[in-house]
Amino acid sequence: MTTTLITGANKGLGFETARRLLAAGHTVYIGSRDAERGRRAAELLGARAVLLDVTDDASVEAAARTVEADGGLDVLVNNAGIESRGPGNSVPGAAETTAAAMREVFETNVFGAVRVTHAFLPLLRRSPAPVVVNVSSGLASLTLVSDASTPAHAYPGVAYPASKTALNMVTLQYAKAFPAMRINAVEPGFTKTDLNGNTGVQTVEQGAEIIVRMAQAGPDGPTGGYFDAEGPLPW
Ligand code: NAP
Repeated sequence: MTTTLITGANKGLGFETARRLLAAGHTVYIGSRDAERGRRAAELLGARAVLLDVTDDASVEAAARTVEADGGLDVLVNNAGIESRGPGNSVPGAAETTAAAMREVFETNVFGAVRVTHAFLPLLRRSPAPVVVNVSSGLASLTLVSDASTPAHAYPGVAYPASKTALNMVTLQYAKAFPAMRINAVEPGFTKTDLNGNTGVQTVEQGAEIIVRMAQAGPDGPTGGYFDAEGPLPW
């Protein structure tokens, strides 16, 4: 029996990933920073709900104790994420980017993933086949964002891509530190969710594909990589 926790799973890609992993036979915890939203999502899917705000040490530690008391964890999907958006769903450009706005994005997208991974590491180390999936972005890729022939090149924001580049490095360093675990970063693709004011071009079914696949990586699967549904991406 595989037990999986997905952070920020009350909606969007996390919710769809939960649905698919439940169908694959996992026991799934829907992590949600709002108890009611988490409870409702878990009820819809037949999952378990756990209160978990990735920006709050006490919340994350309490969630780890709950999951531990229920029997432990095999798969962690660090999915919770935010993007800074301005008026009219606009992405603030370099001139509008403040340190405070950047800190807020990093608090969730980078420090949140580290906070959760650190708290759940003791549980994962007791699993026979531990897996961590960090939900990154194509915008994390220095190679793609610096290449004028890619759509990623046109993205004007600073905080969000920088946070996902940092998450990629976190992924790589954890993968080297814990060779018994499969630890990868994934790019779902531009997906219609609240994150981007539902301007994305893919469905959540398409976006969740690579998250679901990497969450099911076996002991011989890749680790320390960065993938989209088509295969490895350039860092
Ligand atoms: P979404 O629909 O906005 O879902 C984001 C989820 O994260 C929500 O459940 C949200 O909870 C949760 N969350 C935010 N801050 C949190 C916190 N402090 N603690 C716990 N949960 C928190 O967006 P999405 O598109 O599914 O995003 C999921 C992941 O995919 C993110 O990491 C995002 O960066 C990544 N991604 C998305 C796209 C895309 O095109 N959509 C592309 C590449 C990567 P609330 O409901 O409480 O706000």
